[in-house]
Amino acid sequence: MKLTLLGTGCPSVDYKRCGASNLVITKKTKILIDCGSGVTQRLNQSKNSSADIDALLLTHLHSDHVIDLYQLIISSWHSDRDSVWKIYGPKGTKKFVDKIFSAWKIERELRISYEKRKSINALKYKVYEFKKNGSIKINDIKIKYFEVDHKPVTYAYGFSFFNNSKKLTISGDTRPCESLMQNAQNSDVLLHEVFIEYEMNKTSKLRTKKTLHNVKEYHTSSNLVGKVAKLSNCKKLVLTHFVPTRFNVSRLKKIVKKDFGKDPIIGEDLLTINI
Ligand SMILES: [Zn+2]
Ligand SMILES: [Zn+2]
Repeated sequence: MKLTLLGTGCPSVDYKRCGASNLVITKKTKILIDCGSGVTQRLNQSKNSSADIDALLLTHLHSDHVIDLYQLIISSWHSDRDSVWKIYGPKGTKKFVDKIFSAWKIERELRISYEKRKSINALKYKVYEFKKNGSIKINDIKIKYFEVDHKPVTYAYGFSFFNNSKKLTISGDTRPCESLMQNAQNSDVLLHEVFIEYEMNKTSKLRTKKTLHNVKEYHTSSNLVGKVAKLSNCKKLVLTHFVPTRFNVSRLKKIVKKDFGKDPIIGEDLLTINI
């Protein structure tokens, strides 16, 4: 199993760190997790095509994780995709995708009639909404999905991927929670979000103290993520979803290592990890 980080950023714009997105690949399967800003460009850079994605999994419906959904689908059609999209996501995903498609209905119908492509399967989708916890199988990958704690977002999920006796867990966006730590137990790789609190202590014109407090509160801060990884007993910790996107790398490594006992891997867009 291979994990490619496509976007390791957050809503802030940074050309080095695109919006949240990851790709899990085995011999038979390609699964895309989230489709934040820049996902299609990063897929292209990583020599993957949206035509070959077997399933799209959404951790939650925050814009930094789903903003490029329509671009992903249209570009897959332009890349000769000939299969219907399978989209897995939290409750509300069906309504959300339907609304996006409805906004683009006129544009899409014009393209379909004018461009005369042989198939419009790529423009079709089937949505499967998650229950509280459960599992799905896509070809040779078993996926366990589980609720994490990103409140006030009602439905947010983490995932564990199993293939060839290996286990990869992706935290999604979450504050430290029991569910993540239980499900991540003994993972070969834990890909976890991080909020770097000491880099985010400045208020600005619009950013109040309350803003800083609230944003930090529904993520996992740098002084806790090492503890989460240690309690999860994971072999490798890879960090992603950096808030802010620019920071002192060695300072972050040092802080996380203190609790985790090992150096974390600082995620970068297009970094691939073999599992
Ligand atoms: Zn979020
Ligand atoms: Zn996010």
